[in-house]
Amino acid sequence: MLSSEFDMQVRHIPCQTIINPTGGYLEGGFTHTINLYRGCALGNTLCGLYCYAQWNPYHVQGRKWGAFLDIKEGVTEIYRQQYDRLKHPRSGEPKPLHIFMSSVTEPYPPQERKARRTRQLLEEMVHRPPDFLVIQTHTPLVADDLAVLLALHERCRLQINITVETDKLQLPPPFPPHAYSPESRIQALHTLHAHGLVTVATVSPLLPLDNPWRFARDLEAVSNQVVLDHYLLGDGSPQGLRTKQTELPRLLKETGFDDWNTLEKFEAIVGIFREVFKASPRVGVSREGFTASGKGAHL
Ligand code: SF4
Repeated sequence: MLSSEFDMQVRHIPCQTIINPTGGYLEGGFTHTINLYRGCALGNTLCGLYCYAQWNPYHVQGRKWGAFLDIKEGVTEIYRQQYDRLKHPRSGEPKPLHIFMSSVTEPYPPQERKARRTRQLLEEMVHRPPDFLVIQTHTPLVADDLAVLLALHERCRLQINITVETDKLQLPPPFPPHAYSPESRIQALHTLHAHGLVTVATVSPLLPLDNPWRFARDLEAVSNQVVLDHYLLGDGSPQGLRTKQTELPRLLKETGFDDWNTLEKFEAIVGIFREVFKASPRVGVSREGFTASGKGAHL
């Protein structure tokens, strides 16, 4: 852990629903999302700078991003009830469950080590498996759950996405530090991949790289697929309007990385990844890349 900036308000809140229909960016690839927390403990670190979730008014409720974390209570019971209604309806066919966890929070914040919301849900899923589950995380803590992930892998299609948006240990000040080093996240991908789990490295949004060829080779060695995204393509608003409201584009420019604000640079990096990953279906781009596996493309 590189940052100790976790001075925040932590609340426990009742859970109303946990399996929620998907909309927006993930629609078409996934039927539902699951968010076990609200807010994010990593909101004051590098990824919090451009985090797309900070624009979700329902989750943020007027609070400052990075200043709060709500931990949902009663999650496994609600999952059980909703799952049984969807998969064992009194009438009609069972509904498909292609779940993306999580879309507006981090499923493995540091508080997960004590709260164990994600682990408890995964244990429940071993008994009530979705058809497909993608775990999307920014932290290496997902590797703590190797045993339950292996059990769930036997019961459903499972894919673990870990975001590694740069190979740089630190972007120049005044960029905030990473919460967890790129190396620790690549190591987590390695651990999961070596045990036969499907892993995807998400370079999203792409940030400046020290050595694109070496970074692509490092990710190729530990993941079935990579998905690259640029804020101009994939922040859920036209031409990256949301990200343009953050400090990211300005800081890139002021620290000498203005070319990383352009799609020309992004396309050059995608080209390098396509060469390194050889089979081009292993390189996904933006929304298509994120939703392809949910549409049935097996990795
Ligand atoms: S870990 Fe994810 S949800 Fe949390 S601040 Fe970073 S990008 Fe946002």
